[in-house]
Amino acid sequence: MDKIEHIGIAVRSLKDAGPLYETLLGCKSYKTEEVASEHVITEFFKVGENKIELLEASSSESAIAGFIEKRGEGIHHIAFAVENIHEEMARLKEAGFKLLHDVPKKGADNKLVCFVHPKSAHGVLIELCQEIK
Ligand code: ZN
Repeated sequence: MDKIEHIGIAVRSLKDAGPLYETLLGCKSYKTEEVASEHVITEFFKVGENKIELLEASSSESAIAGFIEKRGEGIHHIAFAVENIHEEMARLKEAGFKLLHDVPKKGADNKLVCFVHPKSAHGVLIELCQEIK
């Protein structure tokens, strides 16, 4: 894996959290994007080389809605940039990690993504993401 691509934070409302993070980070978000397949709306911030992704559920079916109900708002996942997501998925599977999907999905911000189950990573949901070229 390369670097941490972004940190995902589950929030109840982008209307509240977006402006607060703009003030906190001292910069405007550069993108708001709905990922309909995941039932989430995302808002991205660039902080130096790093990104923060705020995630709001767009329906009660969303994993973000379930997460907030169970654990409240907060850090939801850590995403790592990978050069070749298929190779990384095969490597992790081989090493015994439980992946949430068999094939990469189209995620927000022009990425192919795959999640590693938090039970496989000591309670942390890991996202692999590869830039779509
Ligand atoms: Zn993410």
